[in-house]
Amino acid sequence: MSLRSIRRDMLTRPIFNWAAKIMPPISETEREAIAAGTVWWDGELFSGDPDWNRLLEMPPARLSEEEQAFMDGPVRELCGMVDDWKLAWEDRDLPKPVWDFMREKKFFGMIIPKKYGGLGFSNTAHSEVVRTVASASVVASVSVMVPNSLGPGELLLHFGTEEQREYWLPRLADGREIPCFGLTSPDAGSDAAAMRDTGIVEYGEWEGERVLGVRLNFHKRYITLGPIATVMGLAFKMYDPQNHLGRGEDLGITVALLPTSTPGVSHGERHIPQYTFFQNGPLYGKDVFIPLDRILGGEEQIGKGWKMLMTALAAGRGISLPSQSAASAAVCARTTGAYARIRTQFDVPIGLFEGIQRPLADIAANAYLIDAARRLTVAALDEGHKPSVISAIMKYHATERMRDCVVNAMDIHGGKAIIDGPKNYLGTAYRSVPIGITVEGANILTRNLMIFGQGAIRSHPYMLEELLALSDSDKRRGLETFDRTFWAHVGHVFATMWRAFVRGWSGGNIGPAPDSAAMPHHWKQLSRYASAFALLADFSLLTLGGALKRREMISARLGDILAELYLLGAVLKRFEVEGRQEEDRAIVDYLMIKGRERIAAAFSGVLDNLPARWAAFLVRLIAFPAGVSAPMPSDRLVSRIAQMLMKDTPQRERLAPDLYLGERHKEHPLKDLEEAFRLVLAAEPIEKKMRENGIRDPQAAREAGVISEAEFRQLAKVKEAVDRVVAVDAFPMEEISPIAAQHRQPPKRAARRKMSVRREAAE
Ligand SMILES: Cc1cc2nc3c(=O)[nH]c(=O)nc-3n(C[C@H](O)[C@H](O)[C@H](O)COP(=O)(O)OP(=O)(O)OC[C@H]3O[C@@H](n4cnc5c(N)ncnc54)[C@H](O)[C@@H]3O)c2cc1C
Repeated sequence: MSLRSIRRDMLTRPIFNWAAKIMPPISETEREAIAAGTVWWDGELFSGDPDWNRLLEMPPARLSEEEQAFMDGPVRELCGMVDDWKLAWEDRDLPKPVWDFMREKKFFGMIIPKKYGGLGFSNTAHSEVVRTVASASVVASVSVMVPNSLGPGELLLHFGTEEQREYWLPRLADGREIPCFGLTSPDAGSDAAAMRDTGIVEYGEWEGERVLGVRLNFHKRYITLGPIATVMGLAFKMYDPQNHLGRGEDLGITVALLPTSTPGVSHGERHIPQYTFFQNGPLYGKDVFIPLDRILGGEEQIGKGWKMLMTALAAGRGISLPSQSAASAAVCARTTGAYARIRTQFDVPIGLFEGIQRPLADIAANAYLIDAARRLTVAALDEGHKPSVISAIMKYHATERMRDCVVNAMDIHGGKAIIDGPKNYLGTAYRSVPIGITVEGANILTRNLMIFGQGAIRSHPYMLEELLALSDSDKRRGLETFDRTFWAHVGHVFATMWRAFVRGWSGGNIGPAPDSAAMPHHWKQLSRYASAFALLADFSLLTLGGALKRREMISARLGDILAELYLLGAVLKRFEVEGRQEEDRAIVDYLMIKGRERIAAAFSGVLDNLPARWAAFLVRLIAFPAGVSAPMPSDRLVSRIAQMLMKDTPQRERLAPDLYLGERHKEHPLKDLEEAFRLVLAAEPIEKKMRENGIRDPQAAREAGVISEAEFRQLAKVKEAVDRVVAVDAFPMEEISPIAAQHRQPPKRAARRKMSVRREAAE
């Protein structure tokens, strides 16, 4: 006891006083944001010594029979009802039968429990539905996604009063109410807490009675489903200048459930988000009065809005956009592989050119990775975790890698994907890329500020407790807690140093791998980087303190390492869960090599720029005695992966499963592509025969007796199918431009008009 008190007074106290000065105090709002969600696998990664067995033991994502039936039935049916091109070009909204169908089948109530009339689906099912619908139509998937994320169904489930749940949830589940969530306003985008939307506590008229309530004034923009919403989850700053509630003037960010029919609310105008015509627009409120029981969660939840949003986002960000991104990446993989096989230039399928193989391999690898990470994340959510740091990683990396996939797919398709029209199956995906990048926490902010910033506090084994101790208003208690945590932290740093040293100096050959997993060398490399990351994170935090928040470039790179460790772990787990498919080894190898390249670049970036040079030197010496470098994938590996997308194999199915491929449409560009792909592959032996005989023209080959009449006809069918895919749309001039329509008048009438114009001029 006495030794401890000597340590506390002689050693800890000066450190405590110094740290309290360099660390910024944690405000109540920050405390709530930090406390939102849970720590899961991110905690293991931050420890520097993740227990890989724990990751492997986690049950994989699975659908129940009922969920599978929904996927096979209503989901496919919905996909078959949407014509993305017609929607963009003519309708600019989902047709009424589609809205009705989504309501009737409860697409808007997937996450609402059955006892409230919803479907009560798992997070896995929610994700699978969004993924498949997104493969058919971005607009339909966004429309399904929003009510099932922020909602405000999710908020009601977690924070609503029982009365509110009983009223609203059944109405949201069957689509009687269309919800939207209004957080963003012109002044407050990324910095949502800067909103100027206010609610003043005062007495007002409500249903003929004078009651205490809130007078709202707001201007929200970019709100998805806003133009057609019947109820809005509204975030605003609540003030009580006359202290009616006895809690002071500034009550903080609060969320209300606001029917859009309430007097003073106006909505209905639409934004056009990159010509992707889901419902999106502004909402205005002028002196709108609501009673206090319209506040989500009632009076008890006044001022808790920020915590609510952070909690809902902690789960939501791991589902919606990662699922959409997974769909987009898989569509890119499937279509681009097929197109690269059927499209020939210089008499060679373009997918055989090495220049094409590089981006094609990247598409395949990213599609595998995004889906691996998505499945792992939704499985964790199904286990009850709400990992805010992991969901930030997912939001950023799934959308960024999806962007890479789409851009690569566009490049490989060339003009075919640029010319818009019903034959273009990539246009919508390309147009909607920036939407995924921006919504639910814009990506630059998420990478630079949130992943490591939030992770360092939330997922680090000691940091949060230390920070809370430093800002404890009871200084004695703070010092006591700090003393205990700080010295445990010091012990942790030494243990991490030792691990990083052994793993670093052995080049990653000594280090833990799960007991029974394949490819132990990959797991060992991850173990190596995890310990080096924990060491570097601690030195960065120690030497930069609160300034790390401003040093975004350093924070971003540390976040990149953390993210890569998560994503690569998910890749290795997927390989195990899918039964170690031999053909997938190449893709796993490729991802691991590319991942190590990224990790090495991020380590180098931090070590080269860390202001405390002694710390950078020490970390290099301990963890990277031979320098920070990583191998590059060989050209052969790249080529192998690219070619797997150009063959009709179970592996291709595994890589891009459960997509909507136009099977319910009479005409659909993906149907044409799949058909042409199959025909081209089936005709390979005939092509080979011709090549061996040095003949390129089928007619000449038939005349020379190299191929039979039947084979000649088969080739003609192939050509027809390929031509149908390679073709792009062209429209009559008048259909594209009203100006052209005006000028193209029948000559007689035009002449008559000219004459009358001349006569008028003369007069
Ligand atoms: C199609 C669409 C649908 C949407 N749906 C909804 C909805 O339903 N409900 C809703 O409330 N909102 C919605 N939003 C709003 C969305 O969440 C915001 O657009 C987003 O939060 C970013 O805000 P901003 O567009 O004002 O960009 P800004 O905040 O102005 O950001 C501009 C850039 O600065 C970067 N940045 C900002 N701060 C930092 C920082 N500290 N460090 C580094 N970089 C930083 C951002 O990453 C971004 O790149 C939607 C937006 C769009 C476009």
